[in-house]
Formats: sequence, C-alpha cells, structure tokens
Amino acid sequence: MATRVVSPKLLKNLRCFTRSLNSSPSSITAVSPLNFAEKPSPTPTTTTPPDSIIDLDDVSKLFATVSTGKLLRSSINLHMAAVNPMVDVGMWVMRSRLMETVVLRDVIVGIIKKTFFEHFCAGEDVEEAGRAIRSLWGSGLRGMLVYGVEHTDDNESCDRNLEEFLRTVESTKSLPPSSVSFIIVKITAICPMTLLKRVSDLLRWEYKDPSFDLPWKLNTFPIFADSSPFYHTLKKPDPLTPQEEHDLQLGHQRLQKLCQKCLEANVPLSIDAEDTFVQPAIDYFTYSAAIIHYKDNNPIIFGTIQAYLKDAKQRLFLATQAAEKMGVPMGFKLVRGAYMSSETQLASSLGFESPIHKSIQDTHACYNDCASFMLEKIASGSGAVVLATHNVESGKLAAAKARDLGIRTDNQNLQFAQLYGMSEALSFGLRNAGFIVSKYMQFGPIDMVMPYLLRRAEENRGFLSSSTVDRQLMSKELKRRLKAAIL
Ligand SMILES: Cc1cc2nc3c(=O)[nH]c(=O)nc-3n(C[C@H](O)[C@H](O)[C@H](O)COP(=O)(O)OP(=O)(O)OC[C@H]3O[C@@H](n4cnc5c(N)ncnc54)[C@H](O)[C@@H]3O)c2cc1C
Repeated sequence: MATRVVSPKLLKNLRCFTRSLNSSPSSITAVSPLNFAEKPSPTPTTTTPPDSIIDLDDVSKLFATVSTGKLLRSSINLHMAAVNPMVDVGMWVMRSRLMETVVLRDVIVGIIKKTFFEHFCAGEDVEEAGRAIRSLWGSGLRGMLVYGVEHTDDNESCDRNLEEFLRTVESTKSLPPSSVSFIIVKITAICPMTLLKRVSDLLRWEYKDPSFDLPWKLNTFPIFADSSPFYHTLKKPDPLTPQEEHDLQLGHQRLQKLCQKCLEANVPLSIDAEDTFVQPAIDYFTYSAAIIHYKDNNPIIFGTIQAYLKDAKQRLFLATQAAEKMGVPMGFKLVRGAYMSSETQLASSLGFESPIHKSIQDTHACYNDCASFMLEKIASGSGAVVLATHNVESGKLAAAKARDLGIRTDNQNLQFAQLYGMSEALSFGLRNAGFIVSKYMQFGPIDMVMPYLLRRAEENRGFLSSSTVDRQLMSKELKRRLKAAIL
C-alpha cells in the first residue's frame, strides 16, 4: 500500500501543464475521441446485441435471492410511491409544521421509518448499515456506504462529520472483504458551503484570466472546459482572506485524513457531484487528492461526472488525459445528475441558459458516449468507472460494449451501481451476467436523511417513473410464486 507524495517541482510542472490543457481546449477537441459538438451523437453501436447479456425476462432467476416477504414489501412501497396524491400528501406532511408537534411527529416518523426509510435507506447508524451490507453481500451485491449528511456551514460540524466518515471506514474492517465497494463522501459535508462557493468563483476567474494568481492552489487536473458555465462568477472575486485560506487548509486536511483511512482499510473513496455553483471546488478537492493518494496502479479516489451537463464529455476527457499523462490512476463515477431543477432555476434567475442538456435524449446520448469512452480506456488498460444508473438501456449498452471490447466481467475497473431500493431488476440482471454491482446505501438518523428521502419520493412518483420496470417485474414474480404455492 503506498500513498504517493508528489514533489514540489512536479507539482509546479503539473500546474503549468494543467493550465496549458485548460487554455487550449480547441486543440484538444481535434484529437478527442469524443464528440464535443452540441448535437447528441448517435447511440454508441455494439456488435453484441444489447439484449443478449442482461436477462430481465426470467423473473425467477432475477429475484432468486429475494425472500417473498421482502419482495412483497418492496413491491408495496414502490406502488405507494407511484401514487401521485399519496406522495403529494406525504411530502407536504414531511415539510409541514405538523412535524413540530411531538406526538404527531413520532407517529409520522414511525410510519416513514417502516415504509420509505426501510426501503431506501440502509439504517439509522453504521451498525444497521453493516447488517444491510451483509445481507446484500449474501445476494451477490456490494454496498457503497453513504453517511447521509449534506451541506454544512461551519468547521465544527465539518469536524463532527469527518468523525462519522472515519467511523464508517473503520466499520468496513469487520465486514466481509470486498462487500463494501466504496465509501461515499460529499465535500459539502467536510468543507463549509460558503467557502466552496468562494473557491469555485476564484477557480472560474483564474480559468478566464490565467494571470490571476491563486497562491493557495494545489495541483489538479483540468476542472473546466470551454463549454463550462461561467455565469456564476460575473465579477472579479476578492482573494481569499487569511481566515478563508486557513479554513480551506482544514478542508484539505479532513479529506487527506479520510483518504489515508480509506487506503489503510483498502476501500476506495468516491466523491459525489453536486450543484455547478460549487462543483469546481469539489472537482479541485477530488483531483488534488487523487494526485497524492493512490494504491499501486489502482485509483483510491473516484470523482463524479454528471452527464446531464453540456460540458460533461469535454471535462471527462481533459481530466482523464491529464491523469494519464501524469501516470496517476483516476476513477470516475458516471451519473446523469440529480440537481436538474435547482440548476435550471439558478441559471434562469441570472438570465442565462441552463447548463443542462436541452433534452433528456441529449443527456442519454451524453451518458452513453461517456460510458463508451471509459470502457475503451479500461480495455486499453487505463482508467476505472462506476456506471451509476437505473437506465436499463444504458446498462445493456455498456454490458454489450464491454463484451465487444473483451473486458472481463470481473474486471475491478468496471462496476455498476444503483441506489438502494431502486432498480433491483437491473442490479440483479447485471449480477446474473457476472458484473460487479453495488447499491448506494444512505444511512443516518431519519431527520438527517429526510432531504434524500424527499428526492427519492420525487424520483419514484407517478406510474411512469423509473420504478416502473421493478414494479412490473416484482408483480410478475410474486404472481408466479403464489401460483407455484397453490398448484
Ligand atoms: C449509485 C448512484 C450514485 C449517484 N451519485 C450521484 C451524484 O454524485 N451526483 C448526482 O448529481 N447524482 C447522483 N446520482 C443520481 C443520478 O444522477 C440520477 O438522478 C438518477 O440515477 C437517475 O438517472 P438514471 O441514470 O438512472 O437515468 P434515467 O432515470 O433514465 O434519467 C433520468 C435523468 O435524466 C436527466 N434528465 C431528465 N429530464 C431531462 C431533460 N428534460 N433534459 C435533460 N436531462 C434530463 C436527469 O439527470 C434525470 O435524473 C447517483 C445515482 C446512483 C444510482
């Protein structure tokens, strides 16, 4: 196990290199295997028929490891989540003043705990999450452990959160080896939000004006592309105050401690992507840590690319290219993106176009292109990717492309992931095809994970939501089991 410490000279050279990559994106466009044009590229083609690898038709095989009781509960929860008026009332109650009345609150929390919480979350603490991991591991899946804290505004809360993250990593030592595929962290939980916003502003300004000096800046891969949005920073930001520089240093130290702990426990750390107004600082933390911490040729740090952003492909290309040139193993989690409404609202309130693709088809095309790009890298021996999606089409396409490229299904550099309680059919279908599959397992006290639960309620509402496939396949399997029991 080795943590590489980069020499100051190398760090300085990298800084120049990063700037030159960042300042001449047009030349990079010419050599890029990705299509950076605004128009979506056609769906990547595969010679293996995408339907031939993942079998979602044989429901008995698909749900073979799920007990009838669990299948029934999951099916009821997903059906309830699909009923719009029920979700509307539930969301109104969770946000209402009723939650301030102790007795009512206890009743409401009790109902949520027995339904949505148990379905979408792995428990209230790290011990309960550990039990959920063991159960998943028994069914051939791995877990990404997510201590569910979000946005913080002061150093004391960041320190407290770090302790919980460290405890989470420590807990993996008593779990079956490899049952935890990743520890997940949100940088907004270990560095104050206001500071991340300031750092993002300064990084944006430096990209536009390379003579703008950021004396505190560590080495990083490129954070921006020519297509990145810059409307968040319309005027030159003031330099960081000594206090802000000190707080930034504390943020780095927290991440370093976490990376070190992950290295010791031999479990990679994946850093979530959030809103674009703080994402440059998040990428900066991610890349500067990845340059320092890795294990042999394997990445210990995974950043996240949100394919719904127009600049996603270009940023992915620039970062992987820089990592390769420096000989730094770097992994990425590829998602579509969860902050669509806040992104669109912010851009429109400032009078700018949304940074998100114009249509969902463009987002799908971007996701599949990025997945294809990373699979080609893996086939040629570099890079690592977690394809985090519930989209069956994307899962099937990636599986077929991996087969065409000769990537073995047990290659650790290619993993798939879905949220706990979602897209069970896709998870089991990929597992049955031999791929490494994880569930993203949020845990924490109900109050703390409420924003996460509200996002899941929103995502699964309506009969045409992303849980449709699961609802249909679970009902089919339940009927099959009932028939088999009667006959
Ligand atoms: C393991 C895991 C980890 C995750 N980590 C993160 C993370 O770190 N950061 C993060 O932001 N999200 C994260 N997500 C959530 C993810 O971004 C998506 O919200 C969710 O997975 C739904 O996307 P999908 O790939 O399943 O695709 P689908 O359900 O097929 O597509 C829905 C997605 O398409 C996009 N979309 C919808 N309508 C439009 C439109 N009109 N125009 C353009 N795009 C549109 C949105 O991104 C929407 O979420 C994670 C998801 C998983 C499974």
